[in-house]
Amino acid sequence: MTFLSKRINNLSESQTIKMAKLGRELSAKGIDVINLSFGEPDFYTPKHVKEAAKQAIDENYSYYTPVSGYPELRKAIAEKLLKENGLSYNFDQIVVSTGAKQSLANVILCLIDPGDEVIVPTPYWVSYSEMIKLAEGETVFINATVEQNFKITAEQLEAAITPKTKLFMFSSPCNPTGSVYTQEELASLAAVFEKYPNIYILSDEIYEHINFVGKHTSIASFDAIKDRVVVVNGFSKSYAMTGWRVGYVAANKEIASACDKLQGQITSGTCSIAQRAALKAYQDGLDTVHEMVAEFKKRRDVVYDLLKEIPGIKVNLPEGAFYFFPEVKSFFGKSADGHTINTAEDLSLYLLNEAHVSTVTGEAFGNEDCIRISYAASEETLKDAVSRIAAALSKLN
Ligand code: PMP
Ligand code: GLU
Repeated sequence: MTFLSKRINNLSESQTIKMAKLGRELSAKGIDVINLSFGEPDFYTPKHVKEAAKQAIDENYSYYTPVSGYPELRKAIAEKLLKENGLSYNFDQIVVSTGAKQSLANVILCLIDPGDEVIVPTPYWVSYSEMIKLAEGETVFINATVEQNFKITAEQLEAAITPKTKLFMFSSPCNPTGSVYTQEELASLAAVFEKYPNIYILSDEIYEHINFVGKHTSIASFDAIKDRVVVVNGFSKSYAMTGWRVGYVAANKEIASACDKLQGQITSGTCSIAQRAALKAYQDGLDTVHEMVAEFKKRRDVVYDLLKEIPGIKVNLPEGAFYFFPEVKSFFGKSADGHTINTAEDLSLYLLNEAHVSTVTGEAFGNEDCIRISYAASEETLKDAVSRIAAALSKLN
């Protein structure tokens, strides 16, 4: 490994991807594994979106695309942002990328110099800290506990700001906690940012529609800070298009042009077929999204009722996304069949090997006391999974 760069040697493997891989390996051995580690809707991509992709192939959408995406798609995104979010952007402020993951990486690499501080509330999505590391930034974590519904306060935010703070990044609805910031809570954070004009805000809104508590509010809707907010969104979750790899940023013109320049040297424009499919998704409205969200809400309620009955687990009711993030620290120090559980990772591996249910350790999301359970599976599978988890946990003493 000595020949590899320090950059890659210092980088951690994505735990979401690692757990999904371990689960698949067990399945390949013929073991009946329930995969609740990976965050992707189990639904199929809507039919009309698939048809648009087939048509794009037949119509020879096979050439390199403009780096920032087809103008029609960027215009449709700008229209969506206006119509659904009340946010006004010109199409040249939109950059389409190969998934929201690339959009996030673009923005971080365009804004962060070595030593710049990036404030990240914990729990946070697994790749944030590693992307910041790649840009040689310093991550400053703010701890949000289960008691505060995993959301930070304006006071906590202000206390974390230093002269080196360049960026604040968060997701709402949040992966891994499902917490959703209310309009008032966002207003109180925006009021802090108003006082610090050199700080940018990266708002990851990929779970925007998977929200069970009312209409989504973007922190970009506060005019005083809008120019410094970069909105990241995409098609993976709302339209069950994880494999198609289409995400985007909406930002001020300078940041959008910087992302275009970076992307032009690394990956160029996103897949032509996937972009045409994404265009259709936005043109055809939200019916399929609403159907999927109603199903997620039903599953959330079923899983919540079951999880909260398991002795030793402390769980909150998530308001969005499709994850539970229960606190499991009461099991630390307990053993079964010679295995002692000392960490959330030990517990997650125990559940995989004993219950054949894959979850992800909270450590990957900056919280050592929790595990993440994705409920993107059928109700029947989820009931089976939770009863397996309960049985395995009851063996620990
Ligand atoms: N942000 C969050 C919070 C996520 O959970 C994910 C995972 N899909 C992404 C960004 C990246 O999504 P995409 O599939 O569009 O790259
Ligand atoms: N975002 C999903 C998750 O959190 C997919 C995996 C990944 O991209 O890391 O599980």
